Amino acid sequence: MQKLVYCTVRLKPELRSRLEKYARVFELGEEGPAPDLAKVEVLMCGPITPQELDAMKNLELIQCVYAGVDALPWSHVREDVIVASNAGSNADAVAEHAFALLLAAAKRVVFFDSRIRGGNFEIVGESRMLHGRRICVLGLGAIGTRVAEIAKAFKMHVVGYGRSRRNTVQVDEFYTQERLNDALRGCNYAVIALPLNKYTHGLITYEKLSLMKRDGILVNIGRAPIVVKEDLVRFLRENPSFIFASDVWWNIRNPSEDADVYSLPNVVSTPWIAGAASSRETYEEMLRLAVENVVRYLRGERPLNIVRHEDYK
Ligand code: NDP
Repeated sequence: MQKLVYCTVRLKPELRSRLEKYARVFELGEEGPAPDLAKVEVLMCGPITPQELDAMKNLELIQCVYAGVDALPWSHVREDVIVASNAGSNADAVAEHAFALLLAAAKRVVFFDSRIRGGNFEIVGESRMLHGRRICVLGLGAIGTRVAEIAKAFKMHVVGYGRSRRNTVQVDEFYTQERLNDALRGCNYAVIALPLNKYTHGLITYEKLSLMKRDGILVNIGRAPIVVKEDLVRFLRENPSFIFASDVWWNIRNPSEDADVYSLPNVVSTPWIAGAASSRETYEEMLRLAVENVVRYLRGERPLNIVRHEDYK
């Protein structure tokens, strides 16, 4: 009997047909009676509730549609369930966005744009160069690797920071987890491309920010809670030349709670659009890659991007 795949996202007909070669498929929202969750063997999901997970007694695989799996209710994920992220599925889009934020901040695009709208063409202050400057890429996974490659094209000095080196990007220096201080010390720029897990939560504190140059720029396209918000606000207030450029937020459901950050003059913001929300094309590609990984499992192969439960529990 074919396995039952339950999708909480809607699929294009060709992606559904691809899955139906190997499995029975039910998409949330489709017509007809919903399946008994206890019979679901493969879950392809975005957000999912603890109650739904508890009901899936026969679950074998969770394939997340997003690269980050931090939003899963991990305490309800059984130890024997394989969890696969969709890491790398939008690496190009997110790395491009990281550089959009970095360049907007370094070249003061937002600053001048808002002044010019008021008719003010006065040239004040100085822009920052990327060429030859030191950039730390925190997390050398799919996105971090693309960021490092782009940084090399700008002829920057690239410092990698991560746990393992799966990818072959040429960085000038590489530091593992316990050497974060060495990675950040003296950097002009840093880009957070880490997942949010129990080891990275609160990683960037006031002390870590202080290791960077006072006129540095920190870009965050990973997840907001990797940075300690109160420390960041204090650091930005004390160092008006330092810029924080972020796509990710602590309170995305109630963004006004992050006004203490985004209303500061030395902050450049986008509303969490680097990945799935950046374009239909990016989202479709994410779904395609998620489906391909499920197909891999249904054919008896090992899925890609298997996440360590230990990172989240
Ligand atoms: P990858 O899994 O390819 O990369 C993550 C990298 O971080 C891996 O190299 C991993 O190492 C490393 N890592 C994990 N834990 C630690 C740790 N404790 N210390 C140091 N390094 C660590 O994922 P992606 O590059 O595709 O995505 C990264 C993150 O970016 C996602 O998890 C998500 O949170 C965020 N993201 C944000 C988007 C947005 O819209 N702003 C869109 C897409 C992703 P190892 O190989 O050893 O596990």
